[in-house]
Amino acid sequence: MVTAAVIAAAGRGSRAAQDGSVPKQYATLGGRMVLAHALAAFTGHPGIDLVAAVIHPDDRDLYDRAAETLRGRLAPPVVGGATRQDSVRMGLEALAPRAPDLVLIHDAARPLVGAEVISRVLGALAAAPGAIAAEPVTDTLKQASPAGTIAGTIERAGLWRAQTPQGFRFGAILDAHRRAAAAGRRDFTDDAALAAWAGLDVALVMGSPRNIKLTTPDDLAIAERLMPAGAAEREPRTGTGFDVHRFAPGDHLWLCGVKVPHTHGLEGHSDADAALHALTDALLGALADGDIGLHFPPGDARWRGAQSRLFVEDAAARVRARGGKIANVDVTLLCEAPRIAPHREAMRRALAAMLGLDVSRVAVKATTTEGLGFTGRREGIAAMASATILLPG
Ligand code: MG
Repeated sequence: MVTAAVIAAAGRGSRAAQDGSVPKQYATLGGRMVLAHALAAFTGHPGIDLVAAVIHPDDRDLYDRAAETLRGRLAPPVVGGATRQDSVRMGLEALAPRAPDLVLIHDAARPLVGAEVISRVLGALAAAPGAIAAEPVTDTLKQASPAGTIAGTIERAGLWRAQTPQGFRFGAILDAHRRAAAAGRRDFTDDAALAAWAGLDVALVMGSPRNIKLTTPDDLAIAERLMPAGAAEREPRTGTGFDVHRFAPGDHLWLCGVKVPHTHGLEGHSDADAALHALTDALLGALADGDIGLHFPPGDARWRGAQSRLFVEDAAARVRARGGKIANVDVTLLCEAPRIAPHREAMRRALAAMLGLDVSRVAVKATTTEGLGFTGRREGIAAMASATILLPG
């Protein structure tokens, strides 16, 4: 007995995409692509032998990234057609040479499908030629008039909302899809409707309220909260940074992005904000992604006189690009002067703003070195920083 799964992922709807440019099945959910969650639900299920995604021809690179951590039961992706119905048929045709006995068809936009729902659909196929996950309608249904008033109330008893997966005996659903295509029927919005048209009995099994379909950007945020504990687990990483700048003639210096009046300035290629340089290195260190000199070479004319907040913001963007978030940062300034305490809260607020953090996650501390060493001789300022970030495991 061979059971296959076809994951419909060729749609172009980008309504749920975070930036409007990536199709929703490639948006990030819990640090992983939506499609990767859907694929993993099936490749990781003991009742599924073979999984094939149907994708849009433009999405091959995105697909490869979604699939890169999955192994084994994943067949090569199939390029889909103009409609979901066409795409599913093409997926079934691609699997036909493998002669599966059963097939589950699932929408990639339902990334939170659980193993128990997949098992219930598979179980029902022992007795019925088709079975779908669905949930009874619990809201009262209203028929609207063209004017937007209530024209009537629809009896909800016996009404179910269809989800996926929808499972079928493979030969029967492939035959139904071929007949529908030959008959010019392209209007089926799910495979159960097509199966019913073809005369197949389709059973209803209980789906799950977690098995939501991502349609709007809000749905991504809802799905994020519905992720099972552990699936979205992030691993803490900590980095440290250290930087020194020499005093130079001037009447102010920059520390933690705040302009501080002083008897001297600080010498440096950029604005010489040693605290922000140390913090940038702490963030890059937590990512194991080089250091500030690698990303912003001091010899590069672009960074002459630059505001160092650019370096911190770049490092914070690198954390986000890895699906991570900053847990907290802690900066220590070492100098005899200027006094830091009067500026501490402004510095915390400035750091919080450039990192996109609540100020409660940002610490700024200062110490002298008791007159010892170069900071004690008032030759310059040193700064240390640490940052803890949470990265997808
Ligand atoms: Mg520096």
